[in-house]
Amino acid sequence: MGIQVINDKCVGCSLCVKTCPFGAIIIKDKKAIIDLHKCNLCGACVPSCKFKAILLEKPEATAEKKDFSGYRGVWVFVEQKKSKVQSVSYELIGKARELADKLNTYVGAVLIGNAVEGEAQNLIAGGADTVYLVEAVQLANFLDEPYTNVLVSLIRKYKPEIVLSGATIIGRSLIARVAVKINAGLTADCTGLDIEAERKILLQTRPAFGGNIMATIISPNYRPQMATVRHKVFIQPELNKSRKGKIIKEQFHIDDLVSRTTLIDVVEEVENLVNLAEADIIVSGGRAMGGPENFKMLRDLAEVLGAAVGSSRAAVDAGWIPYSHQVGQTGRTVAPKIYIACGISGQIQHLVGMQSSKIIVAINKDPDAPIFKVATYCIVGDIFEIVPALTKKFKEVLRK
Ligand code: FAD
Repeated sequence: MGIQVINDKCVGCSLCVKTCPFGAIIIKDKKAIIDLHKCNLCGACVPSCKFKAILLEKPEATAEKKDFSGYRGVWVFVEQKKSKVQSVSYELIGKARELADKLNTYVGAVLIGNAVEGEAQNLIAGGADTVYLVEAVQLANFLDEPYTNVLVSLIRKYKPEIVLSGATIIGRSLIARVAVKINAGLTADCTGLDIEAERKILLQTRPAFGGNIMATIISPNYRPQMATVRHKVFIQPELNKSRKGKIIKEQFHIDDLVSRTTLIDVVEEVENLVNLAEADIIVSGGRAMGGPENFKMLRDLAEVLGAAVGSSRAAVDAGWIPYSHQVGQTGRTVAPKIYIACGISGQIQHLVGMQSSKIIVAINKDPDAPIFKVATYCIVGDIFEIVPALTKKFKEVLRK
């Protein structure tokens, strides 16, 4: 794959300079020059050139069998904040363990940060066999470029066959850059991961076409196979403190730490106050709530149960409750012990965000509502009668 300027055709008009999102093109002596260190071969400049003076060659998609025998291991990029590993990483390590066992390989956890070594043993207890530890003051907080450079050099050095990351704000930003740099495929926001027994490749399942179908995506021609998964899609395994593993302290090149962005401050998200993702019980309301005032009824039940309040997108779109409460494909993914869906029909975009809940209680006046297909307990009736009755009963039983 390559890009070049055909000098005979280039008139130095600089249209390509304006189009390049990476500032990779300059005009010198009335000819365009592409800086290949900055260019990521996105191809934006090609149609902008009226003189057809830029040639981008991309390899033909080929069915030719490549040799991936040098690639081994299922890796997880470990997300840490304030030197503490985030729970999404433990969930992914649990899944990586399952995948690695099917592939008869090891689980690698890449831990980047400052003063994070104390967390390495927990990653082993969670299922990792090897922790690749990269520590530096400059790596204390996530920054796109240094983290990308460090992860890319580790991938090039050790050649894992699979790399997983949380579909979090950090994970999404990082892993797309990594995939581009190493020319690998990436499936974002997977809701299921498995191994195809015959070819030993990663099966990456995620909603497609607005959540109307579940698509299983494979990357048979490139390595590593890369996927992101949201928090709470997989269950966090119990830590087994007796597990043994290796901690490898990795060196990095000082140039890898160069960043064009500077971190000024870290401000806690106000949204965290909702804390949906961590709640053991969620009481969620849908379009049937009919207005913002009726959410009080859900808050009352939630208070008695020590629960958080969630909602469907219909209620958010209607402006009855803020977006931070939305559960589903374009909201939060949750997996509480108990999810109580009140007047929510159960469209696929809602289900993908809550179907891993241990117990689902659905209250709906329509006995054919799709939510009942995933519900553990189905209550057919009017939420305005049932929810207050539940609150009253739980108050008595729980003596609140
Ligand atoms: P409805 O589908 O209108 O269901 C209301 C239910 O309430 C009905 O089943 C009805 O029988 C019942 N009901 C009415 N009155 C009562 C009553 N008094 N007592 C008991 N039951 C009653 N949706 C999400 O939730 N989260 C997402 O993240 C999300 N992302 C989306 C992304 C895309 C790209 C698209 C296209 C859609 C997305 N949606 C999402 C929207 C989704 O398709 C549905 O439109 C939405 O979930 C419907 O919300 P609802 O169940 O509250 O409303």
